[in-house]
Amino acid sequence: MSDNATRAPLTMENIRRVPKVLLHDHLDGGLRPRTVIELADALGYRDLPTTDVAELSRWFRDAADSGSLESYLETFAHTCGVMQTEEALVRVAAECVEDLAADGVVYAEVRYAPELFVERGLSLDAVVEAVQAGFAEGERRAAQQGKVIRMGTLLCAMRQHARAAEIAEIAVRYRDSGVAGFDIAGPEAGFPPTRNLDAFEYLRTNNAHFTIHAGEAFGLASIWEAIQHCGAERLGHGVRIVDDIKRDPDGTVHLGRLASYVRDRRIPLEICPSSNVQTGAAASIADHPIGLLADLRFRVTVNTDNRLMSGCSMSSEFATLADAFGYGWSDFQWFTINAMKSAFLDFDQRLDLINNVIKPGYAELV
Ligand SMILES: [Zn+2]
Repeated sequence: MSDNATRAPLTMENIRRVPKVLLHDHLDGGLRPRTVIELADALGYRDLPTTDVAELSRWFRDAADSGSLESYLETFAHTCGVMQTEEALVRVAAECVEDLAADGVVYAEVRYAPELFVERGLSLDAVVEAVQAGFAEGERRAAQQGKVIRMGTLLCAMRQHARAAEIAEIAVRYRDSGVAGFDIAGPEAGFPPTRNLDAFEYLRTNNAHFTIHAGEAFGLASIWEAIQHCGAERLGHGVRIVDDIKRDPDGTVHLGRLASYVRDRRIPLEICPSSNVQTGAAASIADHPIGLLADLRFRVTVNTDNRLMSGCSMSSEFATLADAFGYGWSDFQWFTINAMKSAFLDFDQRLDLINNVIKPGYAELV
């Protein structure tokens, strides 16, 4: 699926210009290093490894590069540590929108777990309201710079805690204020999604949307539970679905029942290439299952996961994939439309963004 007949060269500048859609991005994984330092100072948070901006950004990437999901998650102690006040949450959320808009993202669903930001006494509702205020502020600032971006929020519950039902209720209560859906995050091993069945049942009863982190560090059982027991509409990562795909020496591909189901039902895969390499879910970008999954026309979307820890953006993920797999503009447009089709946004608004923003944006370059 490459298109060598492109007119515009695949420069970072051009990649930033085309419209992009992001479905899997963690608010506490996307702070500006300078902001981490300034917030730590304001809050009296003393645990940062360094207060030098360049050193700190390097430290986040190196610590996240350790090769295991568990140590990757440790870097979040610092980002969450400085996001414990309303002012901090508003600032982080507003800057997130500005950064995404500057990168050419036109629609983003950004997620976070409200329960991680209550250490200094904020209520869960206060956390949600501060982040929504920050997103609205960020949309305003982006508009002032001539960038139109629309934000949706996903509220996560942490797998290792037991607050999923409570968070699911908050997601439903705030759905008319910009909360688009729900997710569970945190360590997969030992915490199967079925531990939170009550939350998923509540969401389904209320016609609410949810995705589940599954098939990142852990295999097919986790994906199967997320879809067939919990009713996940999308899979956070989902890359281990390749374990259910066999390839003969002559290149013939066989899909198992679960892989077929995921492809037939067009279940979106929120794939985060750089993050997967850092956590060891893929050996390298060139070895990443996204190549095979895209060739087989799974509903593949490209995502950043944690921009700070991976030192990435939507544009840099596209550029990295272009290097590894020879992708071009028509592939980028396909990933972008896949993502827009899979968003937890009303159908008419998705269609509007596809027809009036995304397609015209690519038509300019392709
Ligand atoms: Zn994630």
